[in-house]
Amino acid sequence: MPADFDAQAAAQAAVGAVFNQSPPYQDVDLFGSDRALQDAVAANGAGGEAAALTAFGRHWGSAAMFDLARQANENPPRLHAFDDKGRRQDTVEFHPAYHRFMAESVGAGLHASTWRDDGTRAAAPAEAARAARFYMVAQVENGHMCPITMTRAAVAALAAAPDLRAALMPKIVSRDYDPRFRPWPDKTGATLGMGMTEKQGGTDVRTNTTRAEREGAAYRITGHKWFMSAPMSDAFLVLAQAPDGLTCFFMPRFRPDGSVNALQFQRLKDKLGNRSNASSEVEFANAYALRVGGEGEGLRTILAMVQLTRLDCAISSAGMMRAATARALHHARHRAVFGKPLAAQPMMRSVLADMALEVEGAVALVMRLCRSFDLAGASPEEAARARLLTPAVKYLVCKAAPPLTYEAMECLGGNGYVEADALARLYREAPVNAIWEGSGNVMCLDVLRALTRDRDASEATLDHLARDTKDLPGAADAVAVVRRTLAEGGAEANARIVVERIAQLAAAAALKTGMDSGVADLFARTRLAGQRGVTYGTAALDERDIASLLARVLPET
Ligand SMILES: Cc1cc2nc3c(=O)[nH]c(=O)nc-3n(C[C@H](O)[C@H](O)[C@H](O)COP(=O)(O)OP(=O)(O)OC[C@H]3O[C@@H](n4cnc5c(N)ncnc54)[C@H](O)[C@@H]3O)c2cc1C
Repeated sequence: MPADFDAQAAAQAAVGAVFNQSPPYQDVDLFGSDRALQDAVAANGAGGEAAALTAFGRHWGSAAMFDLARQANENPPRLHAFDDKGRRQDTVEFHPAYHRFMAESVGAGLHASTWRDDGTRAAAPAEAARAARFYMVAQVENGHMCPITMTRAAVAALAAAPDLRAALMPKIVSRDYDPRFRPWPDKTGATLGMGMTEKQGGTDVRTNTTRAEREGAAYRITGHKWFMSAPMSDAFLVLAQAPDGLTCFFMPRFRPDGSVNALQFQRLKDKLGNRSNASSEVEFANAYALRVGGEGEGLRTILAMVQLTRLDCAISSAGMMRAATARALHHARHRAVFGKPLAAQPMMRSVLADMALEVEGAVALVMRLCRSFDLAGASPEEAARARLLTPAVKYLVCKAAPPLTYEAMECLGGNGYVEADALARLYREAPVNAIWEGSGNVMCLDVLRALTRDRDASEATLDHLARDTKDLPGAADAVAVVRRTLAEGGAEANARIVVERIAQLAAAAALKTGMDSGVADLFARTRLAGQRGVTYGTAALDERDIASLLARVLPET
């Protein structure tokens, strides 16, 4: 125990002053302080954005933004189903901090920057550049990202209704967030949501009972959705059973005559996390809607949207992982135990560096996947890669976030477990990305589907992963496990084995091809070759690697 520690304690205890507590984690440059992100941005074609990303990272890492995130989550949305005289109102009131986040993210184009004004894909590196921002936003406030991701993804499904898309695009690409409860054509900007899940089934939407009846050029929708988030969106893409089968519909909050459409919110979900965002239970009582795509083509139409929301789930989980690790390391650098900072204690260093390594794999993986989306239009090879790897990446990264945020929480000791610290919120937020937009097993089934239906293209992707990782420890064995498991039959029972390996190979490949650091070797040795236990801190990293990983995830200031 240093002498000054005792002296400080004696002098300050009497007046209740605080010492040996870490300073707030705030006013951080979320880009400049993150070497893994910088490398991944450069490796995936977005290096030219560095200056803009630095400005973005400083703004989002400011004390003011962190405090707004606290406010948005401590003041959850409230449903006003009826007015004081019993008339239906069906509006949801959000805290001003939530609206501020919406305005910030829409202003930065996170809801639309991957689209041109006509609804076609923007040129590379639009996806990677947006993902870097999305990753930083996820380190601050996650709830509002739900309508942001749904709005950007809905454009992909709207391709099945070109006239409607053309009418909507000016409102979608607008950088004005317009929260007014008004018909979308009268607003300066619009956001979109999605309603698929019903009480009897979320994965198996073929069981949807909500009915659609034709009425001229439009439809009347009757039924319910058990989960429909962001209920103050201007319109929703909704699945319902039309005469010729499950169909996708565009359901606005207002009818064309300006009257309020018949979306009746029953309740808001009382959720584990994701508190700033509202998720409703809703009934449709002859609600007005327009068809998107052909009758009976609902699943195919909505899957174009879901592929993009799945990508965003993985980016957001990677961002939360970086936030948790940086917060844990920040605390450990300022908290002394047994007379020495936690960040200088050998075992804590091993834990933190192992977490940092997990973050390296996650950010490299999601950014490389964004590169595939950026290039997919011109490259069938990259399109196949995006098809196979999106569910695999969502599976691995979204599953990695909850245990990592838990470990980060423990690094803060008791402070991590109380609501005053953002880690408690991150921990409660972390599981949702694995559940919505297709839960873990469903992601694995989707990978199997790609491997069987697009066999040649998927095989080519596997060949590329094998080639890119061939010098890395454990890679050849991992490739062999994938091929053997697929060949042996019973693939469904062992799908998690296959998908985990594919995603880890893709992470190692992204680290290997994207950057000139030893991180790919470390990742492969500990994750692919299995030289690691079950918990963080069991990877037997040497001190030089530990120091490098810690400096990369958050440099000492
Ligand atoms: C906070 C929140 C917000 C949401 N917002 C929306 C929204 O805005 N719009 C919307 O439409 N939905 C929304 N959802 C719903 C979400 O998408 C579903 O909960 C999810 O898709 C899973 O569906 P389910 O709940 O019906 O579970 P189920 O379909 O019953 O699945 C239960 C479990 O079984 C597994 N499983 C399913 N099929 C198989 C199989 N064949 N083999 C092995 N395992 C299988 C799944 O992976 C899952 O783990 C939201 C959910 C949450 C938690």
